[in-house]
Parts: sequence; structure tokens; C-alpha cells
Amino acid sequence: MTEQIYKALNKAKSLLDSKDLDAHAAQLLMEHVTKKSGAALLADLREPLTPEQQTAFWNKTEDLLTGKPVQHIIGTEQFYGLSFEVNEHVLIPRPETEELVLGALERSRRIPGKCRVADIGTGSGAIAIAYKKERPEALVTATDISEAALKVAKRNSELNEVDIDFRIGNLTEPIKTEKWDVVLSNPPYIAIEESQEMSRTVVDFEPHNALFADDDGLFFYKKLAQELPPLMENRSLIGVEIGYLQGSQVSELFQKAFPDARVSIVKDVNGKDRMIFCEIGE
Ligand code: SAM
Ligand code: GLN
Repeated sequence: MTEQIYKALNKAKSLLDSKDLDAHAAQLLMEHVTKKSGAALLADLREPLTPEQQTAFWNKTEDLLTGKPVQHIIGTEQFYGLSFEVNEHVLIPRPETEELVLGALERSRRIPGKCRVADIGTGSGAIAIAYKKERPEALVTATDISEAALKVAKRNSELNEVDIDFRIGNLTEPIKTEKWDVVLSNPPYIAIEESQEMSRTVVDFEPHNALFADDDGLFFYKKLAQELPPLMENRSLIGVEIGYLQGSQVSELFQKAFPDARVSIVKDVNGKDRMIFCEIGE
């Protein structure tokens, strides 16, 4: 006899709980294994798993119990209503970053037509692909220093059927011979010392070159504020994601680099400082 869905689910959740891991991951795993989501799964909670589903569910739960992110087991994450392939080479796109895309789309409406957009440190391609999907006439370039990440981003652009110009290289190096209307980035911004307090699911499984930055996490903002001024069009926009305690420092860096720009600190839905927008020109 195989287990009913809800019994397996409850057992897996309490095992995860007992290890201080995210119990919701069991729900996502069950949806993946049964190929039923949300309401459909709810309606069938008393159904038994098939023997194959039961084996798959418990094998993958073993993986979850090592702290492995459920997105690595399932192989995908949803971002901005789109599906992205993820693996150990890219940051799993976060919901906060959807707000950076939304804020950038709103603030770049004043730049009409085929605006030229660059996403620096694209990882899975999340920001570049979501922006292009919402504004198809934009000419979007996405860069990363990691070849393995760019491979994933390219696959994601194909899966989501958008055309993106991918370039490899350090910071602004791959975009420095052109001028840009919009530059977006969610750079690494966590200070190395913070790794002690972070979840093992992040520290042990996500790429450290996507998470950690020198200079109390400010390294990339300092570089961007230094390198971007000659690359921006007269009327243009910069949008970066930040750590929730970095608002005043990062806004100051950009205000100094662009004295005439409107620089704003924007909060995420949880009320935490999460983005800096720098609106240049009229
Ligand atoms: N943009 C993706 C997102 O928001 O989900 C990934 C962001 S992740 C926090 C930062 C990305 O920057 C990683 O993909 C990492 O490989 C890349 N990166 C790290 N150092 C870099 C550098 N010096 N130049 C360009 N990209 C870099
Ligand atoms: N928001 C990510 C986390 O909390 C960090 C992303 C980044 O450093 N840009 O793990």
C-alpha cells in the first residue's frame, strides 16, 4: 500500500521542520512529483501516491534534508510569471528582484522606443529576460563573469523565446564601447562576515561569486558608480538591487557620481530598503 498524499506531505514537512529547513519545500516537491499544483493537489490530498511517485518523493526528500534548495531538485524557479531553469552555477532568482524589474519598467517609460538596456551580472538571466518580455522593442544585453551562468541564461532566453545579446566579462568591461539608456544590476552584495547567519540552503548550495562582495558588500556599487558615468545617455536610468541596510551608502555613491540625477531609495513589499534608482536627465 502506498501512502496518501497528505500523509507523506505531513511527514516530510515535520522532518524538514526538525532540521530547521523550509517546510514549504515539501509542498513544492509534491507538486512536482504528482504534476498537480495548488488547488488540484489540495483536492486530491487523500489520494494514494503511485509506487513510482512515492519512491521519487522520498528520494528527493532525502536531498531536501541535506539542505539542497528545492529549486535545484525541481530544476526551475518562477520569476515575473516566467519559468527559469536553475542550477548550482546561478543564483536562484528572488521575488525581491521582480520589484527591481517592475520599478525599472515604470521608470524607463520616459525613454521611448528601442531603448538599449544592460543587465550586469545576469545569472539565470532573470532581469534581462523579464524586462525584454515586458518591453519587446528594447534591445537587451546581459553580462556575467561566469561562463557557466551565461550558458544557463542563454538557455532561459531560448525557453522564454526572447532575443538577448549575451556577453562575458568583468563589470562594465563588456558594455563600455556603447552608451546605454538603462543599466540594471543585482550584484553580489552580502558582506563575507554575514555568511555565519545565513541559511545553509543558500551558503552551501548557491554560488559564492553571486552572493558575497568585499568592502562590507559595497564593492560592486563603488565600481559601478565609478565606471557608469561616461556610459550613460543624457536621459537614462540606473537601477540596482541592494541589501536592506545599504540604502543610504549606495544612494550617496550614485548621487556623487551623478550630481544632477534624481536618486531614490525604494523599499520592497516587506518595507525594507531594496533598490536604488538613479534617473539621469529630463
Ligand atoms: N541577476 C541575477 C538575479 O538577479 O537573479 C543574478 C544576480 S547574482 C546576485 C550576481 C551575479 O553577478 C552572478 O551571476 C555572478 O556570477 C555575477 N558576477 C559576480 N562578479 C561579477 C563581475 N565582476 N562582473 C560581472 N558579473 C559578476
Ligand atoms: N538576496 C540574496 C540573498 O539573500 C542575495 C542576492 C545578492 O547578493 N545580490 O541570498
